[in-house]
Amino acid sequence: MSATILDGNKIASDIRAELAGDVKSMTAAGLRPGLAVILVGHNPASEIYVRGKVRSCEELGVYSEQISPPATITTEELCQIVEGLNHRDEIDGILVQLPLPDHVDAKRVLLTVDPAKDVDGFHPVNVGYLSTQRPGLVPCTPAGVMEILKRSGIPIAGRDAVVVGRSDIVGKPAAMLLLNANATVTVCHSKTHDLPAVCRRADILVAAIGRAGMITRDFVKPGAAVLDVGINRVGDRAEFEKFFGGNKKREEAFAAKGSTLVGDVHPEVAEVAGALTPVPGGVGPLTIAMLMSNTVKAARMRRGTKKPIPVAV
Ligand code: NAP
Repeated sequence: MSATILDGNKIASDIRAELAGDVKSMTAAGLRPGLAVILVGHNPASEIYVRGKVRSCEELGVYSEQISPPATITTEELCQIVEGLNHRDEIDGILVQLPLPDHVDAKRVLLTVDPAKDVDGFHPVNVGYLSTQRPGLVPCTPAGVMEILKRSGIPIAGRDAVVVGRSDIVGKPAAMLLLNANATVTVCHSKTHDLPAVCRRADILVAAIGRAGMITRDFVKPGAAVLDVGINRVGDRAEFEKFFGGNKKREEAFAAKGSTLVGDVHPEVAEVAGALTPVPGGVGPLTIAMLMSNTVKAARMRRGTKKPIPVAV
């Protein structure tokens, strides 16, 4: 058996096309959605992510603003910037790019974001809305996982779902979204006993661990849908061989760049699973698409249009 590869780039592009129409009509009605991104200091990876987010806003016609305070900023000063954005009507979404410098109290800064503008969905108010199935803003990556499942026609209600990872950003909200969609959900973590056996029960397996290729074929029930959230860079030749030996396309990319990306799911799982998201090109592209979706949703919820607000996602 060879898994259907779930094309995250195509799904993200469909979502963006739908959002572009929404943004156009909202802008015509004087409600152009706006996103402010705060990027503290000069973290190269964060700079790349923020560039992608701002570019995506430009492509969709969403107003965007980047605020780039120095790494020496204090918690107090950063909270004041957030407060200023909270009070600006044309800003619908506020995103504080993580990680913040060690001396900054990240939790306090994130708590300062107005929950109505919390497009990352990290504020406890939005976490509470999600767990009580009220309309709110949902973290982007798990929301993207759900979009892949729904748009690929993979049934969720009544199915056994296993989420490996319990972070506030991915694992827990993914589990809550699956539960809200009527799956029977098990959440696993580093203390889970006999992880392969628990994972083998899953019709839907979500891997959000941060360990290259950890989910091998022994973890997967034949025919299961496997969603790989992990993004791990492999630069070691021996490790590369372990995952992609004999894969010509990957060999060329590795030779050119000196590294490649691998998910938390071993590529051999494609021989067992029914459906699988690739890395790259699976869950990753959905994250920015869902950020755009959250910005449009935040504009609608806060500034109001006649279109009904979707519940949780
Ligand atoms: P995280 O905060 O480090 O959480 C990792 C989780 O995995 C923890 O709950 C941990 O368990 C669990 N874990 C670690 N080792 C394990 C093991 N051997 N067996 C079972 N569980 C284990 O990571 P995260 O922020 O959720 O991110 C997870 C992955 O997703 C990373 O590769 C990250 O780069 C990627 N990611 C991708 C996107 C995207 O856009 N596609 C977005 C966010 C994150 P404990 O709680 O017991 O420690």
